[in-house]
Amino acid sequence: MIKLDSFLRKLQNYEELCWENRNSGNPTKVIFHMTDIEDASNRLLRFAPYIEHVFPETVKYQGIIESELTEIPKMLREIESIDQINTNGRLFIKRDNDLPISGSIKARGGIYEVLKFAETIALNSGKLNITDNYTKLANSEYRELFSQYSISVGSTGNLGLSIGIMGAKLGFKTIVHMSEDAKEWKKELLRKKGVTVIEHCGDFNQAVNAGRKEAETDPKCHFVDDESSKDLFLGYSVAALRFKEQLKAQNIDVNAENPLFVYLPCGVGGGPGGVGFGLKMIYGENVNIIFVEPTHSPCMLLGLYTGLHDQISVHDIGIDGKTEADGLAVGKPSKLVGDVMSSLLYAETTFSDDRLFLYLAMLANTENIFIEPSAAAGFTSYVDVNKHLKKNNPMIGKGIHVVWATGGNMVPSKDMDEYYQRGEILLKKR
Ligand SMILES: *Cc1c(COP(=O)(O)O)cnc(C)c1O
Repeated sequence: MIKLDSFLRKLQNYEELCWENRNSGNPTKVIFHMTDIEDASNRLLRFAPYIEHVFPETVKYQGIIESELTEIPKMLREIESIDQINTNGRLFIKRDNDLPISGSIKARGGIYEVLKFAETIALNSGKLNITDNYTKLANSEYRELFSQYSISVGSTGNLGLSIGIMGAKLGFKTIVHMSEDAKEWKKELLRKKGVTVIEHCGDFNQAVNAGRKEAETDPKCHFVDDESSKDLFLGYSVAALRFKEQLKAQNIDVNAENPLFVYLPCGVGGGPGGVGFGLKMIYGENVNIIFVEPTHSPCMLLGLYTGLHDQISVHDIGIDGKTEADGLAVGKPSKLVGDVMSSLLYAETTFSDDRLFLYLAMLANTENIFIEPSAAAGFTSYVDVNKHLKKNNPMIGKGIHVVWATGGNMVPSKDMDEYYQRGEILLKKR
């Protein structure tokens, strides 16, 4: 058991925290380069004709799995009134809640990793050439090839959806290890697609370990390792290149006078880490990356603050890991992400679950956008950063603020309605 200072005691007591990263701006351990992001982006371009062919919902984006960036002035006004903050900045939402195929940020990293595995097999078989039109991967010849391989993953839900849907579509045997508390509708949906779902008692890390063990004994099984996969990370990072084009298309310049603030919900760290790293590569010190985690599962904050990364779990200091932000219910962070982000992260905030439902309902009321609870976390962070960090950094009152809405459109409407009603009740109490 480590010795707890006053900060860690607050963390242990589930207090909401706003932590400014003192290492921010220090020299970084260089693990990835811009060329790695471009390589991943090019791979996704090669697959675009195939994606367009097998997922008709992506036709309007020519097989590129991407979401809109939308300014939400009505939501901003509502937040200013409810939370009593004043800003001169602009508030946007990055709508990964609408990402095609699997409806969450996991459609970036998860699908990318499966595609890369498939490409490697197809290229090695001698059947595929890198300059071919990849739509031919939908042919039975390739499905038969892929069916000799399996893909396995441990997941609280959304990663399993991405890997499962993509893996099954290509013809892989796909196995998703899930913790018991994962949502029933996710398990059902996957089983319907032909994915094998194995349920585990205990938390997410136990599900991951089970998947890893199984894959180790089978050379034809690829294990998607949420905690340390470089492919996942790079798949997420491609978002930054496209984000840059989206800002340009809206005639928005990012510079010292008009900095970016990006609020990213964090579980194990791959999604927010990949996106955050990519944005740092593009915008440098003019972008501020902020992670946000539940007070009941602040694994990245604990790992970064102590420097212990994946060598410490929230359970080690008595935190229960129970949160309704199921995409964020992770006990131990990724060391890979901790290493990459330890000097790139600007700040991190934590929130109590209730607030997710409040902002979820506010967003529905003001902008008619429906997101899942985890995805609303960025709004809590936007408010907390404005309340607590502005005195150190007046630029927070200006600039472009982007709440990364990480999931939503796969949630059954009955569940979404319950989330919304819960938020409405909280709103009425305000
Ligand atoms: C997985 C997930 C995240 C966080 O991504 P990590 O890679 O686990 O940090 C955030 N929001 C949602 C909805 C997710 O499913």
